[in-house]
Amino acid sequence: MPDRVAASTLSADVCVFGAGPAGAALARRLAQLGHSVVVVEKHPFPRSHIGESLVGGVLPLLDVLGVRNAIESAGFLRPESALVRWADAIERRATPGESGFQVDRGRFDKILLTAAADAGAQVLQPARAVSIQRRGNGDWLSTIRLGATGVAVKSRSVADATGRHGLLGGTKRRTSERTLALYAYWKYPTVDGADTRVEAGDEAWYWGAPLPGGEFNATVFIDSSNYREFVSRAGSRDALYEGMIARSELLAECLRGVRIGPVRACDATQRCDETPATPDAIKVGEAAFTIDPLSSQGVQAAIGSALHAAAVIHTILERPGDTELALGFYRMRQLESVELHRVAAGRFYGEAARFKPGEFWSRRAIDPGGEASRDGRPPLSAHLEIELAPQARFETIPTIQGDFIAPAMGIVLPGVSRPIVFLEEVAVAPLAAMLQGPVSVERLLDRWSQKLTSERAVQVLRWLWDAGVLRPRASENALFTLSFPSPK
Ligand SMILES: Cc1cc2nc3c(=O)[nH]c(=O)nc-3n(C[C@H](O)[C@H](O)[C@H](O)COP(=O)(O)OP(=O)(O)OC[C@H]3O[C@@H](n4cnc5c(N)ncnc54)[C@H](O)[C@@H]3O)c2cc1C
Repeated sequence: MPDRVAASTLSADVCVFGAGPAGAALARRLAQLGHSVVVVEKHPFPRSHIGESLVGGVLPLLDVLGVRNAIESAGFLRPESALVRWADAIERRATPGESGFQVDRGRFDKILLTAAADAGAQVLQPARAVSIQRRGNGDWLSTIRLGATGVAVKSRSVADATGRHGLLGGTKRRTSERTLALYAYWKYPTVDGADTRVEAGDEAWYWGAPLPGGEFNATVFIDSSNYREFVSRAGSRDALYEGMIARSELLAECLRGVRIGPVRACDATQRCDETPATPDAIKVGEAAFTIDPLSSQGVQAAIGSALHAAAVIHTILERPGDTELALGFYRMRQLESVELHRVAAGRFYGEAARFKPGEFWSRRAIDPGGEASRDGRPPLSAHLEIELAPQARFETIPTIQGDFIAPAMGIVLPGVSRPIVFLEEVAVAPLAAMLQGPVSVERLLDRWSQKLTSERAVQVLRWLWDAGVLRPRASENALFTLSFPSPK
């Protein structure tokens, strides 16, 4: 649809495409920061979406967005434990920390989008981009089909929050084995309790969860390369799915209920976009990176990336001199998340691989014992002489400070996935810089206690020790590793 047939023209600082958790969170946050925002979503809401199990880690993000009450009072399930058959027996694992939710994504996403509109974002829905044109630096013209009419949106920046496939294109690097999810919803499945269910199969893993409306989502994850062969052996996708569910100890009961709707297949491979942000375009949520569904943290990661993206866009629009810093921040945080989730999932697969001999498991597993171990250090004690690890470097790191990305001095250590800048609001680099050479733990705490409370000083010291930023003075370390008695 060319520009000239657009019935109306809107101008905004940012045009956000896609109104899943990432797009809605970004739109709300930008509007709260005073920016004009247009959101373009192709489906009317509520619409169904996979990704219904949210861990408690999403709660602080809902707090930042100011939507926690709305989500908590929406009647979603709050499971306190999960049934796990990952080794050779079924265990009930208590949810660590605060309970998360099992949500109806149609309603969950609608609450977030309504909150974005309440903050001032203009929502075009159901609407589709017909063309997205970059006319110059910070000058975009998007032509949108909204029902029978056309709308032209002029914006300084665009955000792609359209999910896994993305709208703006670009190269996506694969960071895991290719994985395919087959899932369906069930009614009356005679499955007791609100627990999420996770199970290791022979050449697959299973995930299932009761949902607020009385339905049950049962999903099986297989290696994508096996799909054709498995379907041809089973006769059809439905037969493959139901045959695999029948072999699951925790989900087989579903088959006594009624399947509602088709068996769907979707990609569940982890990928990472190589250019998540430029000065006037940003990819958010699954358009920027996808993580293994094993962690049930996809929605949390999508909202987290939206909050980072909001600070990045805000910085670029308000302090253009800090554009490179802001882009560096976004890329760094994206890579950190990808790596963190890749390793966490790999270790979890590693637990099952000890019991499951198949290639499905060995190709996904990361051996926790393969990690460099720092064991072998003496325990921290008041008289222990410590020093900065020689490989620790001080660097200027882009960080979120208030609503902006701003530089701060941080510590970079090989093997620690992210630079260490703040520990609960305490800037650690200036503290670490006070170590000019070996010093006893007692003296260091004494020095730091002039800047912090002594409890906080102990906390920071313990944390830097655990992270490997601090180590025993070289000679003490040598004594210890040679197994001489520890110095008194
Ligand atoms: C099998 C599987 C199981 C999962 N399980 C979990 C789980 O239990 N817990 C969890 O937290 N996460 C889970 N996830 C991940 C979770 O689904 C995603 O992380 C989350 O939905 C990402 O949010 P998003 O906003 O980036 O994208 P989406 O939620 O996909 O939202 C994208 C939006 O963009 C819209 N859109 C698409 N194209 C266009 C276009 N051209 N124009 C306008 N709008 C468009 C779509 O309609 C949609 O509303 C799972 C993923 C998979 C594959």
